Amino acid sequence: MSKERLSRRDFIKGSGLALASFVLSPERSKKEFPLVISHLQTDLPLYALTIDDCWMPEVLVEMLDYLRENRFQATFFPIATAALACNEISPDIFKRVAEEGHTIGYHTMNHPAKERVLQTSYEEWNADYDNWTRNFRWLLGQDYYSLAVKRYARAPYGEFTESFLGMCENKGLTPYFWSADSGSLENNIPLSRGNILLLHVTDRDLGLMRDELSLASRDLRAASISCIEDENYCPAAYPLDGDLRRRKNFSTNIRGT
Ligand SMILES: [Zn+2]
Repeated sequence: MSKERLSRRDFIKGSGLALASFVLSPERSKKEFPLVISHLQTDLPLYALTIDDCWMPEVLVEMLDYLRENRFQATFFPIATAALACNEISPDIFKRVAEEGHTIGYHTMNHPAKERVLQTSYEEWNADYDNWTRNFRWLLGQDYYSLAVKRYARAPYGEFTESFLGMCENKGLTPYFWSADSGSLENNIPLSRGNILLLHVTDRDLGLMRDELSLASRDLRAASISCIEDENYCPAAYPLDGDLRRRKNFSTNIRGT
C-alpha cells in the first residue's frame, strides 16, 4: 500500500517544528534523507495507534489489557531505559507486547532533553540506535525481537534533525511523526482513516483511551503501523482471518522454544 510521504518543506510547515534544526547548507542539501511520515494511506477503516515512552509499568499493563479487550493493535515507541525499568517491575512485559500483535519502533535510549536532541550528532544517534537494539534484543529474545521490532524511528519531541534523519538513512529506518494526539481526543476532533495517533503511557492518556477513543474513532479501528502497511500483521483488525499464515507459523515457533 502506498504511503503519503511529506516533503521536508511540507513536514516543517505542517508540524510547526523549529526551522533551525532543518536548515541545510547548500552541499548538505544534496543528501537524500528518508521522508518523515505523518499520515498513512489505507483503503481499510483503520488508523495507526502509536504509544510512546513507556515509563509507567502499571499503566502499560492496563493499556495492554484495554487493547486486548478491544482487539486493537498498536505500535509502541519505547525509550530503552524506560522499558528496562518496566521489565524490573513487570518481567517480560515487552514479550507480552510482541505476543499480542503489537509492534515496536526506536525512540532512543534515554530521550534526552530537547536542547540536547538538537545537538546530538549523527555518530551519537547511530551509537544510540545500536544500544537501543541491543537492549531490546536482550529484553525480547531473538524470536520476539524479529516478530515485533520494526525499522521505525520516532525522534524525541518529533525533532527530526538532519543528524537524526541521517542515522535513519544509514540504518534503513522509516521516521514516523503523527497527525493526531491526546489533544485531538480532548478536543473531540474525530480521527480519520490513516491518521497516526500519538499517545503516551500515562494515567491521563489511559483515561483518554478508555473514555474518548471509541467516540473519536467512530467506525475506525486502532491498528499498528505494521498492520496498515502489511495485512499479515492485522490479526486483531481481521478477527475472522486472525490466523494469517505468518503469525500462525510464528506462534508455532514460539511455543516450540
Ligand atoms: Zn517521547
